[in-house]
Amino acid sequence: MSAAALAVLVAPTGVRVTLVESSEIGTVGVGESTLPHIRDFNQKLGIDEADFMRATQATFKLAIRFDDWGRIGDSYYHPFGDYGALGGAAPFHHYWLHGGGADRVGSIDDYALPIVAAREGRFAPPVDDRRSVLSTYDYAYHFDAGLYAAYLRRFAEARGVTRIDGRIASVAQAPEDGTIRSVSLEDGREIAGDFFIDCSGFRGLLIEQTLKAGYTDWSRWLPCDRAVALPCASDAPKRAYTQAVALEAGWRFRIPLQHRIGNGYVYASAFLEADAAETRLRGLLEGEALKEANHLRFLAGQRTRNWAANCVSVGLASGFIEPLESTSIYLIQAAITKLTELWPAHARDAAAARAFNRQMDLQYERIRDFIILHYQATQRDDSPLWRAVRETPPPDSLAERIALFRQKGVVQDYREGLFQHPSWIAVLLGQHVTPARAHPLVAAEDPVRLRAGLQRMRDAIRRAADSLPTQDAYIARYCAAEAV
Ligand SMILES: Cc1cc2nc3c(=O)[nH]c(=O)nc-3n(C[C@H](O)[C@H](O)[C@H](O)COP(=O)(O)OP(=O)(O)OC[C@H]3O[C@@H](n4cnc5c(N)ncnc54)[C@H](O)[C@@H]3O)c2cc1C
Repeated sequence: MSAAALAVLVAPTGVRVTLVESSEIGTVGVGESTLPHIRDFNQKLGIDEADFMRATQATFKLAIRFDDWGRIGDSYYHPFGDYGALGGAAPFHHYWLHGGGADRVGSIDDYALPIVAAREGRFAPPVDDRRSVLSTYDYAYHFDAGLYAAYLRRFAEARGVTRIDGRIASVAQAPEDGTIRSVSLEDGREIAGDFFIDCSGFRGLLIEQTLKAGYTDWSRWLPCDRAVALPCASDAPKRAYTQAVALEAGWRFRIPLQHRIGNGYVYASAFLEADAAETRLRGLLEGEALKEANHLRFLAGQRTRNWAANCVSVGLASGFIEPLESTSIYLIQAAITKLTELWPAHARDAAAARAFNRQMDLQYERIRDFIILHYQATQRDDSPLWRAVRETPPPDSLAERIALFRQKGVVQDYREGLFQHPSWIAVLLGQHVTPARAHPLVAAEDPVRLRAGLQRMRDAIRRAADSLPTQDAYIARYCAAEAV
């Protein structure tokens, strides 16, 4: 992603881009569920959607479904889109609450078109007409991350990026100020550069092993530190959502691609052994396993300085907040966008580094809070993991947001960064964090009339969802990949 973006956005100014990667080491081999921002990224690069989807066995994603998070037996969706279409004086969930909530007017999920469509296996892109309920959503993709990397590699090479396949064995720094001058491969080749982007994954070859930028550990709030991934075959219709099912010592993901299902168990090693996690995951597969299990280790947290000296870390080298809300690829693209915006004027551009680090801290911390919310707002106490996360006090920034919602039903939007109003509403209400009262502007509404209006809205959303093709039919027509 970095090389492809630089090839389009920076290389035309005369910058030469060299990509060093090691096919012997390979990539982490997971990361298949994305957020809608990836569409902007691909569009900025001029990538044709249907072509990219065929090449990566991609499907569409309208939401994430969370099972068993608040309580065992619960199910709710985090949609890529808005709830309701009342256009009233207060956010929609206040009308829903005043109408009587789930008991009187049905689940809030029934009022979000992307959720209703996802539940029914339907998909079409949103329309432009803002008056139509079919304009109230966005979408992302599920794809094979290895195929996306290969696709972008071809894309980058076709646009002048030089790719070198080899293992970096050493890094040379300038003695006077520690800036990186070059990297040397095992075969002795030396690659010099003015500026370096560390995309070396968890190892942080340049940013940590060389520049010692530090790591801020968030595992006290996010104790999952292992994952086992195992793709399987499936003939089921392709669902337009990622599924995240809470289990005893973590949670399981299910990501439908055109040619297979991506599965994984993300768990806390304090509460579960690797073999037991693999056995548990195998027992939940809906079809034949297609590969060996891939066991991974990580530590939830963020690189303390994402830009140090003449090096920026991107991807897992810059941190990892566990994959619950598919935020990692988003963070990669956000970092690349910020980097091109602040493109350094010289090797040690301290002002650009400060601005970049501030921005990435903000991004990381906001995502961290949102993900911690899923663990904090649980009522589960059936296993040591769930008891531990419930009892850990959240960061102050999250505690304030939860308190404001409980008191007034208010979610304050961030000016920048991920996860705005509907995302927070989905998880808060989905996990039983209920406001003490509806907004005063809504409380004056006649509940009987309000319920009738809500019923009409549900019907309209249902009819609109029913008018969409199934995701399978849409893919078959638009971007079917070759069978493998
Ligand atoms: C269990 C799990 C599930 C995930 N699910 C999602 C998801 O659904 N959505 C999402 O957005 N993200 C997800 N992620 C994160 C996602 O996988 C990564 O953000 C993404 O794959 C990018 O990884 P990377 O390029 O930073 O690192 P890697 O894939 O590890 O790539 C590192 C690169 O550096 C090269 N390299 C390393 N050392 C050397 C060396 N010495 N010499 C030369 N080259 C070297 C390697 O060859 C490789 O090309 C998940 C992560 C995990 C662990």
